[in-house]
Amino acid sequence: MVGVSYPYEAPVSQSLYDRAAVVTPGGVNSPVRAFRAVGGTPRFMVSGTGPYLTDADGREYVDLVCSWGPMILGHSHPAVVEAAQAAVARGTSFGTPGEGEVELAEEITARIGPVEQVRLVSSGTEATMSAIRLARGFTGRAKVVKFAGCYHGHVDALLASAGSGLATFALPDTPGVTGAQAGETLVLPYNDLDAVRAVFAAHPDEIACVITEASPGNMGVVPPAEGFNAGLKELCRANGALFLSDEVMTGFRVSKAGWYGIDGVEPDLMTFGKVMGGGFPAAAFGGRADVMAHLAPAGPVYQAGTLSGNPVATAAGVAQLRHLDDAAYARVDAASLAVRGMVGEALAKEGVAHRVQTAGNMFSVFFTAEPVVDYDGARAQEAFRFTAFFHAMLAAGVYLPPSAFESWFVSAAHDDRALERIAAALPAAARAAAEAVPS
Ligand SMILES: *Cc1c(COP(=O)(O)O)cnc(C)c1O
Repeated sequence: MVGVSYPYEAPVSQSLYDRAAVVTPGGVNSPVRAFRAVGGTPRFMVSGTGPYLTDADGREYVDLVCSWGPMILGHSHPAVVEAAQAAVARGTSFGTPGEGEVELAEEITARIGPVEQVRLVSSGTEATMSAIRLARGFTGRAKVVKFAGCYHGHVDALLASAGSGLATFALPDTPGVTGAQAGETLVLPYNDLDAVRAVFAAHPDEIACVITEASPGNMGVVPPAEGFNAGLKELCRANGALFLSDEVMTGFRVSKAGWYGIDGVEPDLMTFGKVMGGGFPAAAFGGRADVMAHLAPAGPVYQAGTLSGNPVATAAGVAQLRHLDDAAYARVDAASLAVRGMVGEALAKEGVAHRVQTAGNMFSVFFTAEPVVDYDGARAQEAFRFTAFFHAMLAAGVYLPPSAFESWFVSAAHDDRALERIAAALPAAARAAAEAVPS
């Protein structure tokens, strides 16, 4: 990338990346991992302990990605590792019901009032895809309302103006999604209830559901304005549509009961992933029992999965959720508060225009002076400053999300030593951000 120098090398990662590029498109299995937005060599990680990751070159980093959220207890938490190992020893998949699935479903429903019943799947994408199908099957309506900058996985119908990797690459849309698939999706600006009112007025009895990130974290962190989620729920209720809150990122992260635990607005359907799998592929959708009753085999809406409720994933998920007590959330919250405080201070000291935006313990840094309330605002930031900041942090052993449009994540394992390392890296990174020029 022009204008950015990399004052360090990662020869083993580079050779792995070269090998990967031969056998895998772009060398990665999920686009943002490729560092395309920031340039340089993606780090191939070989191990993780607590708040640290070690790459193939033997370099250690303080991890502020936490696998994009799941590793909320830190890497290799003994209770999670032990539960997974014990489950593996009993057998890795049966294709039958098992007790672990019941336990995980009970953990979820016990924490989150509006979730009376839950169906387990293997990824957040599957969860939102299935929840949308269920909403359409339940209401007999076709249209779905989503918000620009909200990411709900790579579901065909939901890849219109999505954030995350698409924000990173500024792709307006994606080839492979047909007009018919995207045509039933209505995309509105985030935090704009008037737009939601207008869309219901324009499409009476046609909208199956409104889907929103409970608090968006895939265009950077852009929390809902006061009353926004409650307004969505009210408008859905008044117009016979379901309110679908996507908590794949926020669920079990920002509180014991996710974002619902913070704003208390009761959705009809919710989706979960990331934290609930303890680092394994486990996700879920759930909600009102009368809606969930439409799902096969109880009802007519088909949904299935060979590895759904996998015994290893559910064992790890149950162990992780059981360890997420008030004390654990207090540690995550404290680490978040400390990191965002020191980042803001370092950038202010160098006179870098920025906003540290928060949603519970999730946060991200926008390189702009303006508060960011929607996708247009997020894209208006000076992302080139992030690139310089990112590489300076990486060089000093701090692993940030390789994109200016992603939430940062901390864990309960981010202790004083990890925080000190971040503090030590910040002055030079803030200076690099200040000196950065557009490429
Ligand atoms: C990560 C994410 C998804 C997709 O989950 P995958 O497991 O990556 O398929 C969906 N919705 C939100 C809000 C997410 O953050």
